[in-house]
Amino acid sequence: LVRLRARLSRSNSMLGKGLLALLSREKIDQDVWDEIEETLLMADLGAGPSQRLVESLQTRVRIEGTDDPAHVKQMLREELIRLVDPSMDRELALDGAGEDPGVVLVVGVNGVGKTTTVGKLARVMVAEEKSLILGAADTFRAAAADQLQTWGNRVGVRTVRSEQEGADPASVAYEAAETARREGADTVMIDTAGRLQNKAGLMDQLGKVKRVTEKVAPVTEVLLVIDATTGQNGMVQAKVFAEVVNITGIVLTKLDGTAKGGIVVAIQDELGVPVKLVGLGEGPDDLAPFDPEGFVDALLD
Ligand code: GDP
Repeated sequence: LVRLRARLSRSNSMLGKGLLALLSREKIDQDVWDEIEETLLMADLGAGPSQRLVESLQTRVRIEGTDDPAHVKQMLREELIRLVDPSMDRELALDGAGEDPGVVLVVGVNGVGKTTTVGKLARVMVAEEKSLILGAADTFRAAAADQLQTWGNRVGVRTVRSEQEGADPASVAYEAAETARREGADTVMIDTAGRLQNKAGLMDQLGKVKRVTEKVAPVTEVLLVIDATTGQNGMVQAKVFAEVVNITGIVLTKLDGTAKGGIVVAIQDELGVPVKLVGLGEGPDDLAPFDPEGFVDALLD
C-alpha cells in the first residue's frame, strides 16, 4: 500500500495539483467549478462521475456555508472516496468449494498485461502457499504460451498448454482445470486470447472457454484486464467484454505510466464492477490490491 501510494503520486499529482490550485482561488465561482469538472474529465474520471462530483461538492459548499480551500479539499477527498466506493467487495474469489479448484479466467485485449498479471498473481499465491495450475488458452500465438510458461517456471507453477498453434482454447482451458482438480490444486488460472476485431468470434471463444471449463468446476472469478494508459479506448473494451462474459473484477494495469488514474472511477461507474487489482510496473512485485482511500490520497497528493 505504501508502495502504491508512492508510485501513483508521481504520475497522478497533475490532477491533485490542478484541483488544489483551483480550490485555492479567492472565490469559487461557476467558472472555477467548470474548470474543476474539466480537470476531472482530463484525468479520465468520465463525464457522469465528474459531473456528479462537482454537483455534490457545490451542494456541500452551499449547505456547509464555507469555501475555505482546506475545507473544500477535505470535502473533495471525501466525495472522491465515495465515488470510488470503498463498500464494493474487492476480495478475489480464488478458492473453489469442496473438491473443486477455484477457476479464474483472465480476459482482455492483447497487450494490456494479461499474462504479466497472471504471472504476478501466481507469485503472490505461491507466496501464500496456495497450489496453482496455469492454463495457456491464448493459443493463437505460440509466444503467448511461452511467455506464460516462463512466468510459471519462474514461480514454480505448472503451465498447461498446447504445443500446437491455433489449438482450441477451450480444450486447453478444460485440460488445465481438469489437471487442477486431479491434482487437488487450490486454483487454476486461465490466460485467454483477446481479439476485439471480431466481437462475434470473441463471444464464441470466451463463451466456449467458460462453458467447457465449467464442466470441471464453476468459474469463481473473471478478471478483465484494462490498460490505464488507453483512456477511453479502455472503456470501449470494457463494455464489449462485459457484454460477452460476466466480469467479476477489473485489473487496471500500467497505472505507473499515466496521469489518468481517474479511469478507475469511470470503469467502475460504467460496469458496476470493482477494480480489484492494479498493475504498477513490469516487475514481478508490481501488483497491488486496489485500495480506494490510498488511491484517492495518491490522486490528491
Ligand atoms: P497481454 O498481451 O495482455 O498478455 O499483455 P502482456 O502481459 O504481454 O503485457 C504487455 C506489456 O505490458 C509487457 O511489456 C508488460 O511488461 C507490460 N506491462 C504489463 N503490466 C504492466 C504494468 O502494470 N505497468 C507497466 N509499466 N507495464 C506493464
